[in-house]
Amino acid sequence: MMSAIVSARAGNSVLLLEKLPKIGAKLKATGGGRCNLSNTLSNEVFMQHFGRDGRFMSHSLELLDHHKLIEFFDSIGVKTDALDGFRIFPVGHNSKFIISALEQEMQNIGVEILCNQKVRSLEHDGTSIIGIHSSTHSFKTSKVIIATGGMGYPTLGAEGDGYELAQEVGHSIKKLYPAMMPLQTKESWVALCTADTIAKATLRVDLKKYKKLSAIGDLIFTKNGIRGPVVLDFSREITPLIDKFGEVPMLMNLTKGLNEEQIRQHFKVQLSKKPTHTTLSLVHTLLPQALSLELCHIANADPEIALNKLSGIVRDKLISILAWTPLTIIGHDGFKMAMITRGGITLKEIDPKTMQSKKLNGLYFCGEVMDLDGPCGGYNLQWAFASGFVAGSN
Ligand SMILES: Cc1cc2nc3c(=O)[nH]c(=O)nc-3n(C[C@H](O)[C@H](O)[C@H](O)COP(=O)(O)OP(=O)(O)OC[C@H]3O[C@@H](n4cnc5c(N)ncnc54)[C@H](O)[C@@H]3O)c2cc1C
Repeated sequence: MMSAIVSARAGNSVLLLEKLPKIGAKLKATGGGRCNLSNTLSNEVFMQHFGRDGRFMSHSLELLDHHKLIEFFDSIGVKTDALDGFRIFPVGHNSKFIISALEQEMQNIGVEILCNQKVRSLEHDGTSIIGIHSSTHSFKTSKVIIATGGMGYPTLGAEGDGYELAQEVGHSIKKLYPAMMPLQTKESWVALCTADTIAKATLRVDLKKYKKLSAIGDLIFTKNGIRGPVVLDFSREITPLIDKFGEVPMLMNLTKGLNEEQIRQHFKVQLSKKPTHTTLSLVHTLLPQALSLELCHIANADPEIALNKLSGIVRDKLISILAWTPLTIIGHDGFKMAMITRGGITLKEIDPKTMQSKKLNGLYFCGEVMDLDGPCGGYNLQWAFASGFVAGSN
């Protein structure tokens, strides 16, 4: 939609082909229906969150950073806010404002939209695009922008068609993984701890070469694993490791970052205030009741007796588990629950200044179909809009 608007504003005749009955199905679902369309980070920091390839976005963000995106939406009648100082939403926090403004602007400037049109193939003469074919129609054109998204939430349209279209004209695809989704654990005790949100949990991969992978944020246990903002963000690092190793050992700090020494100190203070604490009630000063009980069980600590009645070994084990609780990730629900796709069309085959294919003249890409993915917080939509702006401008 961004590409179509920018291109039509420059005087081109633009046709948008959408395979679903309506445009913007995924956009509608973003941010829990509120559409977290960008964030307030500087371009430098923004790019760092995409990892090593983040710099690919440099030129696009120079042309359309979050300030210019806000101006763009303002120009089509949507005011935005960032009430937490970070995440940018349309005022009113409803994605329908974004979609109807984009639709209205496309109508105003003469973008033709055809829905229920699944694009099936590209036509070319070996060096340049000459046409495109949908299920029912063929169109002659010298320029095509592929904006087909990733593989996540396939009911919202993106099912990986763009990868096939690109592959057929010689592009390579970096291996695809589902990302931003809940994870499943080997440990079944998690099912007994689903009632509470654990704030500021730290997750760390416990594999020799990957010890640096960690994340902090809110965590929720599920009947078969973990979810919550920290898990959504971390899952994009974990799914490739599950693929490689089968299971991924992790360590979690659920005590807001306290180390063993600080936990001992905390217990000392609590006991000086209330000497009658049982081990369970003492742990419960740090964690929810159900979780406290499960961690006592893992340490083989009798929850009902006083901490100083436990053997030294058991006490040490409990404290060590409170500092770093082990958890084993064994799976996920696949693309159907993935908000983002990791992998995609190889970046070195795309010109970052124009988004044009280096394989075929007149073919362009934008958004999630390319091999770039960011964390939660407006990163992926900002990238989709910025790359869409560049593709449309060219
Ligand atoms: C539930 C959910 C919530 C999210 N929340 C946020 C958020 O708040 N902030 C954020 O930054 N990111 C969020 N994301 C990620 C974000 O939505 C995507 O990264 C972004 O929409 C990608 O934009 P895109 O234009 O590349 O692809 P999409 O938005 O997926 O659009 C691709 C379009 O192409 C159509 N299409 C696909 N194949 C064909 C074909 N062969 N022919 C014709 N049409 C085709 C699809 O139907 C679809 O309409 C969320 C994702 C999900 C699933």
